Amino acid sequence: MTRINNHYQKLQAGYLFPEIGRRVSAFQAENPDAAVIKLGIGDITLPLAPAIVEAMHAAVDEMGEEAHGYGPENGYGFLTEAICAHDYAPLGVSLEPGEIFVSDGSKQDSGNIQEIFDLGSSLCVTDPSYPVYVDTNVMAGRTGEADENGRYQGIVYLPATEANAFMPGPPDERVDLAYLCSPNNPTGAVATRENLTQWVDWARRNEATILFDAAYDAFIQDPNLPRSIFEIEGARECAIEMRSFSKRAGFTGTRCAYMAIPKTVMGRSAQGEAISLNALWSRRHATKFNSVPYVIQKAATAVFSEAGAAQTAEQVAYYMENAQRIRQGLGGAGFAVFGGEHAPYIWMRTPGGLSSWDFFDQLLERSHVVGTPGSGFGPAGEGYFRISAFNSHANIDEAIERILKAFGS
Ligand SMILES: *Cc1c(COP(=O)(O)O)cnc(C)c1O
Repeated sequence: MTRINNHYQKLQAGYLFPEIGRRVSAFQAENPDAAVIKLGIGDITLPLAPAIVEAMHAAVDEMGEEAHGYGPENGYGFLTEAICAHDYAPLGVSLEPGEIFVSDGSKQDSGNIQEIFDLGSSLCVTDPSYPVYVDTNVMAGRTGEADENGRYQGIVYLPATEANAFMPGPPDERVDLAYLCSPNNPTGAVATRENLTQWVDWARRNEATILFDAAYDAFIQDPNLPRSIFEIEGARECAIEMRSFSKRAGFTGTRCAYMAIPKTVMGRSAQGEAISLNALWSRRHATKFNSVPYVIQKAATAVFSEAGAAQTAEQVAYYMENAQRIRQGLGGAGFAVFGGEHAPYIWMRTPGGLSSWDFFDQLLERSHVVGTPGSGFGPAGEGYFRISAFNSHANIDEAIERILKAFGS
């Protein structure tokens, strides 16, 4: 038989969400009448906004009138220009369309970006973190085996704790790659300007690269908080930013995202030459990717229209109202809750010192509510639990009521 990529054997018991799915299915099979409320996986629940649907319809009609074949690998100009004008210019960040790479998702981008770096590169992640950062580096062979706590040899874990407001600073040692996510999934914490300045200064001092995941930037409520790492002085020399239309505009099933790589971010070749990461990614993207469908890029562009911007902002506000209800409902009853102010996630300490998975099982059993065990995002997530604000107001209220009934003191 053909030998497999053995690094996959180091991965831990499957991806988090399939495991949750298995437990929920088993519960539902045994309790067919239970009305389970799902606040687990971070997926949107509102339909696409009318302005976006309209743009998609119009683009479909165009497809029937003339051929729109392979698009430019890095995205159509109408979209990359709109991104620069609407996502960056208002922040005082000047990026040009050639620094934007449109893709079919930030999951892919955050998983694929490691390919352009040496296999010997060291990396750090905040712990807990979005599982894709760690798992894709394990698959690539950049780590050793996991220890009994689930920490892989070769990765520097930076615990996100109540003491550091779930926003750890840079490590003392030098590493090549730093994955950062703000607003954070899973903790719902948000980086301040000071936090990011510390990281950028560290990256420049150490000639490291920051891979900044801003999938939730639209959920930031305070205009003084940074929405892009490029708002920080010097970030154009050391950072790559990933953004997605998934959460801000309900594109999880529609698929469109982008990566911003300034032409000033450099890596080093084995011969010691400085190489543009923008050029490297461009080569990679053109080889392995054949552009996002025309219809979808037209739909994404509509997010920036006056109507599209207003309608998607309303959707974000709807989810943030849920986040506030969860914070107040559970926090007011004495649960230790964090996040949820600039992110659609509430991070709570499990009641009674339960382990994350024990609380998951009890919550499902006693409240018929599904959340996500914090330990699934990294060892420092043990004893915590993520509750997503993606649902209807009615389901959120019902879930809070059930949780308080089963677990309230
Ligand atoms: C949802 C999410 C993404 C975006 O995923 P898409 O592939 O663009 O749908 C990226 N990063 C984090 C942290 C996320 O939670």
